[in-house]
Amino acid sequence: MSNDVLTVQNVSKTFLPTIIALESASLGVKAGEVHCLLGANGAGKSTLLKIIAGAFRPTEGRLVLEGRPVELRNPAEASRLGISMIYQELDLVPQLTVEQNLFLGHAPGKFGLINRKDRRKRASEALKRVGANFTPDVRVETLSVANQQLTAIARSLTMDAKIIIMDEPSASLNETELKSVFEVIRDLVKHGVAIVYVSHRLGELREIGDRVTVLRGGRTIGTYEIADTSDEALVTAIIGKER
Ligand code: ATP
Repeated sequence: MSNDVLTVQNVSKTFLPTIIALESASLGVKAGEVHCLLGANGAGKSTLLKIIAGAFRPTEGRLVLEGRPVELRNPAEASRLGISMIYQELDLVPQLTVEQNLFLGHAPGKFGLINRKDRRKRASEALKRVGANFTPDVRVETLSVANQQLTAIARSLTMDAKIIIMDEPSASLNETELKSVFEVIRDLVKHGVAIVYVSHRLGELREIGDRVTVLRGGRTIGTYEIADTSDEALVTAIIGKER
């Protein structure tokens, strides 16, 4: 039996009338790994992320979460099952406080009813885990992009996420900020969280990733141990062999 926390099995997605964004894509994500997705523009990365996060439903194929097939009807259902997506635009409400943002997208019924004291406790714990040097009371609009990124990760933690999907987190961070986000990621995977990480930058994937799945033209070309794979082999997988 596989020890994947999440398996994507032969997932296809067609947008009407005839755009095939994904074609029988398959991969397995293990608990405690940073699993990267790599592919050229239009290869299907975002579509795959959104299917894993419950934002899109696959046309064919299925997701298996901890050994059980799941049908994710929407992102709230995904987050209730422990799958949390951090979009590039971060999806935070700038005028609200950090604490308010931490509990915003929560699936109703899971933490929606917890009292103020417990919310504060959970918020403080989550902020501590991401090494935040700001309090739950500050408004998000006063934070740097890097601290907003930490807030988004903390929000995933308040949802007890087992799988955190990060779509190009480095896009708006400088090198120092990215290093501190990497430290947080390393701590999370040490505690068994799986990270699905998208970036175009090979150097970055080498620094943070354990394995990488390459997508090309909507298909999964293969999954590779990053340490054992050369940049050249990855580039060939991304663009295909010239004929
Ligand atoms: P990028 O790196 O540019 O974000 P990507 O690998 O994430 O690319 P996707 O955004 O998943 O690729 O797109 C895969 C294909 O599906 C593309 O041809 C894209 O135009 C198409 N596509 C994506 N979303 C939709 C949509 N909502 N409606 C129609 N076509 C779509």
